[in-house]
Amino acid sequence: MKIDLVTIFPGILEGPFKESMIKRAVDRNLVEINLVDLRQYTHDRHRQVDDTPYGGGCGMILKPEPLFEAVEDLKNKTAANRTRVILLTPQGHKFNQQMARQLSGEEHLIMICGRYEGVDERVRSGIVDIELSIGDYVLTGGEIAAAVVVDAVVRLLPGFISEEAAANESFSEPLLEHPHYTRPPEYRDMKVPDVLLSGNHGEIEKWRRQQSLKRTYERRPDLLEQAELSTEDMEYLENISKSNN
Ligand code: SAM
Repeated sequence: MKIDLVTIFPGILEGPFKESMIKRAVDRNLVEINLVDLRQYTHDRHRQVDDTPYGGGCGMILKPEPLFEAVEDLKNKTAANRTRVILLTPQGHKFNQQMARQLSGEEHLIMICGRYEGVDERVRSGIVDIELSIGDYVLTGGEIAAAVVVDAVVRLLPGFISEEAAANESFSEPLLEHPHYTRPPEYRDMKVPDVLLSGNHGEIEKWRRQQSLKRTYERRPDLLEQAELSTEDMEYLENISKSNN
């Protein structure tokens, strides 16, 4: 997979991909991540990427010409069969694990990071395939939002984490994941549940499933509507519900 991040502040994105597991994915050629300075697609002395809004009002708008040229150039440079152009915007679809999974199957992503009041509307209608928001709040720019999306997508690339780990984690089902414990078995009077020390894999799996259901019921009951539940799961949830009433 190749990911091009188009930004006027590439420095903001230098850190997140140079550490830990994303760096390893880059080093192992699972993904190529390029920071693309939008100013290299300007033709004036001041390398102007923004301008005032038509109709007046505060703030600046990213101009269409450098963004169109950047996207066209990056598309021309790739050998990928298909490119998806993503605009980070608080007005986009709210990003989730399912979208991360879909995007992890793409060959080439171009992510446009907005700034100031955002981008000229012709960018959105002319060259963007997907508009993504990372939540209902407004950031100063799209770089951190893009880093969130890249992180979530890259860790789903084949070979990044084991299939088993990816299948068990929160939202994969969609259920929240069960709690985890590590050594020591007792810390400040807080004990690891006996079942996890029992070595009984059947009982451990059952406990994990039930904890996952309980967590989801308590914290994100909306997810249960989409989850595939067995008769045993339903009985367990009914019992929790009864004991809460
Ligand atoms: N005026 C815009 C509006 O009201 O929709 C907000 C612009 S915001 C200050 C500047 C840039 O930050 C946006 O163009 C976008 O790229 C990015 N941004 C801000 N919040 C975001 C969010 N929740 N998700 C994704 N990108 C966001």
